[in-house]
Amino acid sequence: MAMALAAQVREWTGIGQFPSATQTKLLELLGKLKQENVSTLTILVMGKAGVGKSSTVNSIIGEKAVSVSTFQSEAPRPVIVSRTRSGFTLNVIDTPGLIEGGYVNTHALDIIKRFLLNKTIDVLLYVDRLDAYRVDNLDVQVVKAITDSFGKEIWNRASIVLTHAQLSPPDGLNYDLFVSKRSEALLKVVNQGARLKKGDLQGATIPVVLVENSGRCNKNESDEKVLPNGVAWIPNLVSTVTEVLLNGSKSIHVDKKMIEGPNPNNKGKILIPLIALLQYLFIVKPMIRAIKRDIGSEGGLAFNLIDASAERKAKSPAERRKAGVGRKY
Ligand code: GDP
Ligand code: MG
Repeated sequence: MAMALAAQVREWTGIGQFPSATQTKLLELLGKLKQENVSTLTILVMGKAGVGKSSTVNSIIGEKAVSVSTFQSEAPRPVIVSRTRSGFTLNVIDTPGLIEGGYVNTHALDIIKRFLLNKTIDVLLYVDRLDAYRVDNLDVQVVKAITDSFGKEIWNRASIVLTHAQLSPPDGLNYDLFVSKRSEALLKVVNQGARLKKGDLQGATIPVVLVENSGRCNKNESDEKVLPNGVAWIPNLVSTVTEVLLNGSKSIHVDKKMIEGPNPNNKGKILIPLIALLQYLFIVKPMIRAIKRDIGSEGGLAFNLIDASAERKAKSPAERRKAGVGRKY
């Protein structure tokens, strides 16, 4: 198994596809990771369907490693793309969208969790689009589902990725202002969905990075893909990932308990069925037994009373007098 896995790890040739300015920056970041003794980096990519998760995976790797679909029918299973470069291994895990028919697709989530068993997530990229103007309860539910699966701690290791970043904001809004408004809205969603409290996050806030996967992305004089604000976004994305990785928080190891447990944030809930069973065995059942016993003895008592009055009636007045029944003093 290990052999088979190892054989799948290909040389990261895609890095050579980037313009040399980008290559230089990426190799610099890899050098920084090597200095920190990081030899493996596993990035998990999650979000709703059609937001640009697979495209972003391909952009990072620098080749068409996973399939991109304009309309629906994404691969229903997660895919891991592994590439090595001078002793460093980059794993990027692409996942199917978490929303189906207006609900969180718990089946897809289960498949993702099982796929991640025994893997360690170093960084989560939570992907959505920049060019959307509202957030809703569904966004909160997606964040909640991720949190329920991997624990609040995953947000220590997260970055929000906003695709379709080459846009002209509506109503003549300034680009940076639009970006900050959209970022704020999504950070609110994460805080709400993950029920983050002050002090839950190691880093001050979850970094938001912009991405433009389109082939029509503008380029700078060094041929690097740039955003409307002039930022070369591929090295910026990798740089942010590196910062998240080195922010002092722990990677998320996905073990059996995490997969099978209903919710790592509510471990006590596991006890609910057990408590219900104990209650039944030691409280409800004895109660039922006691009630049955009571009914049984009451029945006997009623029978005896009827019997006694029948006996009394059977006796003649003389006999009754003799027996002292009805004697007045
Ligand atoms: P996924 O379902 O989240 O994996 O999304 P995909 O990567 O399959 O992308 C869905 C559609 O959006 C495809 O048609 C992509 O070409 C397109 N797309 C993804 N990212 C971007 C982006 O940054 N800019 C633009 N213009 N289109 C994008
Ligand atoms: Mg996809």
